[in-house]
Amino acid sequence: ANGLPNPLLTADAARSLVDSVDAFLFDCDGVIWKGDQLIEGVPETLDLLRKMGKKLVFVTNNSRKSRRQYSKKFRALGLEVTEEEIFTSSFAAAMFLKLNNFSPEKKVYVVGEDGILEELRLAGFECLGGPEDGKKNILLEANFYFEHDKSVGAVIVGLDQYFNYYKMCYSCRYASLCIRENPGCLFIATNRDPTGHMTSVQEWPAGAGTMVAAVSCSVQKEPIVVGKPSSFLMDFLLKSFNLETSRMCMVGDRLDTDILFGQNTGCKTLLVLSGVTTLPELQDASNTIHPDLYTNSVYDLVGLLQQ
Ligand code: PLP
Ligand code: CA
Repeated sequence: ANGLPNPLLTADAARSLVDSVDAFLFDCDGVIWKGDQLIEGVPETLDLLRKMGKKLVFVTNNSRKSRRQYSKKFRALGLEVTEEEIFTSSFAAAMFLKLNNFSPEKKVYVVGEDGILEELRLAGFECLGGPEDGKKNILLEANFYFEHDKSVGAVIVGLDQYFNYYKMCYSCRYASLCIRENPGCLFIATNRDPTGHMTSVQEWPAGAGTMVAAVSCSVQKEPIVVGKPSSFLMDFLLKSFNLETSRMCMVGDRLDTDILFGQNTGCKTLLVLSGVTTLPELQDASNTIHPDLYTNSVYDLVGLLQQ
């Protein structure tokens, strides 16, 4: 717009952005909320965009909850958002199996929480692992020996807040056996975010990325990532709605997931500084990911569009 690598959203830019798109894709943490706290001005912004006839879609890399559980979170924060408007990395993992004709005869071994298990079950897949795996410390039993289930055809790794040393040993061994003994076994990561807002006020270096790294190190293989910035999620989103990526805007707070996802899929991109990325980080010479526009928070759209 103004020739600078990272143009600030102005009233003119906001008007032309809104005119040029039919849909806004909102990242959740850092854009809509921080942890469990709603970000200021979000209800007003969503209302205004809906009144202008824009389709709104919410895309989160957080794998802990299912779409159903997220729609409850939106409602608890006073936002009317339906399950169909929510795309989570847990749902993406289940849809990846479905679109790749994964046989319902095979099982899925999960390192993660209930959200992944729920999405897999809703899609008709049988799962093993999940939170159950953390309950008993078998390392205390000197003669413990286990056989893995030979019908496992996919290993999915997301965030598990109860991951500990024992669970790391157990799940890494389980995943390694499944993948090494069956080269066709899929190895899927919901996302690789290195950090997350585990509390409303601080960012913690404890996203699913750390757990994915542990399992990936153990199985000696790189996973297929189904969350942002992978374009898989977009292919599925386009199958659900009649939209074109050139007429969509991805709004996010992370350069290496949200903005890259928007760029990988041909959307316009708007970075907000209400989450993990700071202005000095955006403008740092070492940063190679540049959004089309940036602003402080989504609420700026309301002020700028009313000027
Ligand atoms: N994964 C976890 C565990 C998180 O806590 C977060 C954010 O807090 C994310 C992923 C990123 O979520 P989003 O894509 O909504 O920013
Ligand atoms: Ca985010």
